[in-house]
Amino acid sequence: MKQSLHECTLADLESFSPKQAPLLSHMIFRENALNEHPNLSSKLVQKLKEDFQLTLPEISQVHESSDGTYKFMVRFSDQLEVEAVLIPFHRRYTICLSTQVGCAMNCQFCYTGLQGLKRNLTAAEVVGQYLVVSNWWKDKNTEALMPNIVFMGQGEPLHNAEAVKRAIEVFTNPHGINLGQRQITLSTAGYLPGIKKLTDFVPINIALSLHSPFEDQRTELIPINKSYPLSEILPPLLELGKKKKKFLTLEYLLIKDFNMSDLHVERLSELFSGERVFFNLIPFNPFPEARFERPDPVEIDLFKEKLVSKNLRVMVRTTKGDDILAACGQLHLEKLRRTKNANG
Ligand code: SAH
Repeated sequence: MKQSLHECTLADLESFSPKQAPLLSHMIFRENALNEHPNLSSKLVQKLKEDFQLTLPEISQVHESSDGTYKFMVRFSDQLEVEAVLIPFHRRYTICLSTQVGCAMNCQFCYTGLQGLKRNLTAAEVVGQYLVVSNWWKDKNTEALMPNIVFMGQGEPLHNAEAVKRAIEVFTNPHGINLGQRQITLSTAGYLPGIKKLTDFVPINIALSLHSPFEDQRTELIPINKSYPLSEILPPLLELGKKKKKFLTLEYLLIKDFNMSDLHVERLSELFSGERVFFNLIPFNPFPEARFERPDPVEIDLFKEKLVSKNLRVMVRTTKGDDILAACGQLHLEKLRRTKNANG
């Protein structure tokens, strides 16, 4: 199959023609068409059309929720699908993107994780996912700004680091989609080989799925913690924050009677007091046959207040659309259930 122009960075386009690269970027990423243009050499346009393709993935399903959030199933040429979620955040929307079909991390609280990895997405597929969803949104709302990005859909972005790094370079091409570094957040389960590569990435926001400050308990939730324990992943992540003068987001799943004790608060304070971090507390989002439970609002508040009293910066994911971030993975579940019912 021909290579896609959607995975071409500004540097790649400049290698075809430094002068025409800005206009090419605009056409490829803003207009999704490569047409003759007075300021483009028709020979170059012809050559690019012969050697490359501009096909986008398809949206196979859209689910709208009452809170203004949209969930999409995005289908690639081999018929495999991932989910992307469009989430309202004030004036601008955010798209939650997937980086793999399935996931190899096997996190015990995650529906995608329990299904295993099918394959990596290419950089073009990651960018394509963004383009089909943002085009769909622009058709509905012509005033729409280009949405921000969180890599919090299916997959572990740092387990597919090369493709994700390239996609981020494409997203930040100032003549194309033109997102700023602060408009992109990558969330990782703590895959150390990928964390080591982050120094070569465009400096976006980084979030770590922490979920427990205790190695054994974290391994129970996130099996790769056995190979890449907190003691090894935290130093490079905190160092990166210092170098780039950025906060590290710590995502902390709230699981009833599991990771919300005073001992947890103490240990979190020991590990993170004075560090450039803030906590994003995510009440566990249950799915059928899940081993864990969501805590009550009162317990959530109490845990939050205890962290705050340790001078840690904390927010709880409570805004409507935010909840759906944690629900990534569950559209598949609905589909699965329907199939089951269809089979009696
Ligand atoms: N692999 C990456 C990104 C995908 S998961 C990572 O692990 O960070 C995005 C976020 O959703 C992670 O913080 C993950 O821990 C959280 N998550 C997964 N399943 C969840 C569930 N059932 N309830 C709440 N959050 C969940």
